[in-house]
Amino acid sequence: MRARERHVRARRVTEREVLLGVDVGGTTTSVGVVTRAGEVLVAQRVPTHRDGTGRALETIVELIAAVRREAEGRSRAIAAIGVGVPGPVDTRRGRIGEDVPHVPELAGRALAAELTARFGLPVFVDNDVNAQALGEWMFGAGRGACSLVVLAPGTGFGAGIVLEGRPVRGAAGFGGELGHTPVKFDGPPCWCGGRGCLALYASGRGIAEAARARLAGLAGAPLLAAAGGDPLAITAPLVFRAAREGDPAASAVVDEACRALGAMLGTVVNGLNPDVVVITGGVAESLVPLEAQILKRAGEYAFHRALALTRVTIVPGDKRTSMRGAAALAIYEMDRTDPRP
Ligand SMILES: [Zn+2]
Repeated sequence: MRARERHVRARRVTEREVLLGVDVGGTTTSVGVVTRAGEVLVAQRVPTHRDGTGRALETIVELIAAVRREAEGRSRAIAAIGVGVPGPVDTRRGRIGEDVPHVPELAGRALAAELTARFGLPVFVDNDVNAQALGEWMFGAGRGACSLVVLAPGTGFGAGIVLEGRPVRGAAGFGGELGHTPVKFDGPPCWCGGRGCLALYASGRGIAEAARARLAGLAGAPLLAAAGGDPLAITAPLVFRAAREGDPAASAVVDEACRALGAMLGTVVNGLNPDVVVITGGVAESLVPLEAQILKRAGEYAFHRALALTRVTIVPGDKRTSMRGAAALAIYEMDRTDPRP
C-alpha cells in the first residue's frame, strides 16, 4: 500500500483532474467535487449523525462514495480526497486527536489510512480551519499572499495559519488554535480548560453565554424579550441585533467581542505579521458592519505600521468554502510531494 500510495502521490494534480473536498462538521457533513481552480462542480450534504451516534464514519464514507460516483459519471478523474475535521489532527501520523467532541467517534482514528484503504486514492486529513486557511490562500481572499491567518468564529472559534506558503500545524496538530489563546489572563474559565480565551468573548457560544450572564436579574431587558423571555433561547445573532437596536447589555457584549478580536489581531499582526487576515465562520456576517470598530480596537494593541500594511477582510463563511478548503489541502499535499523539480 505504501509503495502504491507513493506512486499515486508522486505527481502534481493536473488541470483536468478533480478533488473530493470533505467537510466534516458537528451537524452536517458536505462533500464536493472541486476543480484545481477551486470551482465546486457538485456538492452533497447529509446530517453527520443521520444514522445515530457512533455511526458518523459510515455516513461520511457513504457520502464520499455517492459523490465519487457522480464525479465519475461526469468522466472526471479524481486525484485525491481532502478532509477537514473539527478538531486537532496529527498530520504527520495521519491521526485525528482525542478532542473532537462534535464527532467523538473519529477520536484517535487514522482516518486518512482508513479512507485510502476504502477508496484507493490518496487521502489527506487536517483540522477544518487549517484546511480552510489553505483554501483562502489558494483560491480566496488570501490568493497571492505569502502569509495568511484565518480567524473563524462559529459556534466555537477555529483558526488557521499559512506562514510563508506552509500551513502551521505545530508539533502535535494544535498549531493555529488561536481561538483558545487568552485575551484576558484573569478572565473566566473556558470550556477548553483554559481561562480568558478569545472564544469566550467572540464565538457564537461565548457571545450567547456572556449575554446570559449579563442579563441575570435584568427581567425587562429588550434582548431577553427578543428571546421570548427564555435566556436559553439567546443566540449570537439575537445579541448583535439587540445591540444594533440599543440594548445596553447586548451592546456591552458586542463591544467586548470587538475588543477581544482587536486584541487577537494585535497578537497576530505583531506576532506573525501576515499579509492578510481573513475573519470568517458563522459569526462573520454579524461582524461585517463592525469592521471599523474591530480595526480601531486592533489599533490599541498592534504596531500601527504593521497593522496598516495588513489586509483584514471579513468574509461570511459557507459550506462551499469549507469543501474548497478540504480540496486545497489535497492539492497542497499532492503538489508538495511531487518529487520532480
Ligand atoms: Zn478556551
